[in-house]
Order: sequence, then C-alpha cells, then structure tokens
Amino acid sequence: MIEEQNTGPVAVITGASSGIGAATARALAAHGYRLALLARRVDRLEQLAAELGPTAVAIAADVTDRSALVAAADRVHRKFDGADLLVNNAGVMLLGPFSSAQRDEARRMVEVNLLGAMTATEVFLDQLRDGGGDLVNISSVAGRTARAGNAAYAATKWGMNGWSEALRQELQPDIRVTLIEPGAVATELTDHITDLAAKQGAERLYAQLAITADDVAEVIAFAVTRPRRMTVNEILLRPTSQPG
Ligand code: NDP
Repeated sequence: MIEEQNTGPVAVITGASSGIGAATARALAAHGYRLALLARRVDRLEQLAAELGPTAVAIAADVTDRSALVAAADRVHRKFDGADLLVNNAGVMLLGPFSSAQRDEARRMVEVNLLGAMTATEVFLDQLRDGGGDLVNISSVAGRTARAGNAAYAATKWGMNGWSEALRQELQPDIRVTLIEPGAVATELTDHITDLAAKQGAERLYAQLAITADDVAEVIAFAVTRPRRMTVNEILLRPTSQPG
C-alpha cells in the first residue's frame, strides 16, 4: 500500500542533511515536490523533514553502503510509489597534496562522490524510468578545472562529468540528465579538510567570495521544472568574483 497519497513529484536527495542538499530540499518543496531525504546524520534529516511536513521523509543511508540504498529505495517505493527525481549530491572535499598520507581520504572521495552517485543511480534507475524522471548530478567547477592540491577531488568530479554525459546519451528521453557545476558555496564542505594548509587556503577563498547553498538550490529547481520537451543538461555557476 502507498502511504503518501499526495500527487506532487517525488525527489530523492542524497546528502540532504546540510548545505546544498538541504537547501535543494527546501527549494523543491516550494515547487510541490515530495521528498526523501538521505544522509548519515539522521537527526539533521528528521529536523528538516519536520520543517517540510508530512510529504518529506528522513532516511538514514550512507551512499557507500549499497544495501542501505536498496532499503531506501524500498522505503521510497512504499511511501510514495517511486521516485521522479534523484539528486546525487552527497560528497566530500578532502583537499591536500597527493601522497600516501592522503590515501584513505582519496579513496573515500572516490567512494562517496563517484561510486556513491553511481550506486544510488543504479538502485533508483527503474523508479526514475517508470513514467519519466530526472537525474541531477552535483559536480563542481573542479569537474572542469584542476589544480595542485585537489587532484583526487577533481578526479571524482571529472569522473562525474564523463559519466553524466554518457548517461545523457543512454537514458534520455526517459530520464533527463542534468549536471550542476558550482564554484565556491558556503557550506560545511571545507570543515572536514584535515590538511591544515589546504583547509586554511580554502577557508580564505570561501570567506572572500562564496555564494549560498540557496543560490545553487534555486538553479537546480529551475532546471528540473522546465517543460519535459527540453533538458537543461549542464550548468556552471560561480561566485561572480571567483577567478578559476
Ligand atoms: P556539505 O558538507 O554541507 O554537505 C555534504 C553532504 O554530503 C552532507 O549532507 C553529508 O551528510 C553528505 N555525505 C557525506 N558523506 C556521505 C556518505 N558517505 N553517505 C551519504 N551522505 C554523505 O557540503 P555541500 O553542500 O557543499 O556539498 C554537497 C555537494 O556539492 C558535494 O558533492 C560537493 O562536492 C558539491 N560541491 C560543493 C561546493 C562548495 O563549494 N560547497 C562546490 C561545488 C560542488 P552526512 O554527513 O549526514 O552523511
């Protein structure tokens, strides 16, 4: 039995517990979407779900754990009868020089940012296909540029860009594919950097020019609410004063 009988489209957002994911949940709710909020910090998700009302559900899911994503897809199916939109947003940016000391963090970025998105997508694919859906992949300016100190992070985002372009050709017209490439956005992303010099450098840049998570969320909501005859395939957005 379907638990939720409202009629708005259903969005699944990974990494919905903070930053761009949480802002996107609010922006999509304002457009009438029902929401499945996924992340590891379930207390944060429950707070957000309570704010958004009964058409939002909090689901604890680590994107590196396929069985947790399969359980989440089952929960979405039971509650909403399926998903219309998947936003692959969960990510970590553990900047620092490429070295053996960083190997665990490099691996974690690949597992969360790239493999996590791939796993969530294959798990929700049938639900998205059923009736025509949308896939939004949150990449980065770092999916088009690269610099010393962000090698592994950039690799995950370049990977996401290539993967998204192949999916665009493979999945459209059934599932529209949209790639979002933000520049610096004020969120918790830099909090987790362990390399001190990299952390201070990122924090200095972000303090000068970062845009807000709401700025990005509005762009995502715009892209997915276009008529189905068209697809916004790629958007690069940066703070106006961000050089690269
Ligand atoms: P935040 O740190 O605020 O959000 C990251 C989100 O990812 C959190 O909700 C976190 O939830 C979730 N997450 C991390 N690891 C996992 C995991 N293993 N399983 C499930 N969820 C996970 O940063 P942002 O909002 O900035 O980041 C969102 C996305 O935007 C990322 O992909 C990032 O690369 C991208 N981006 C950000 C930019 C920026 O400047 N902020 C610029 C360009 C792209 P929890 O810890 O509860 O699991």
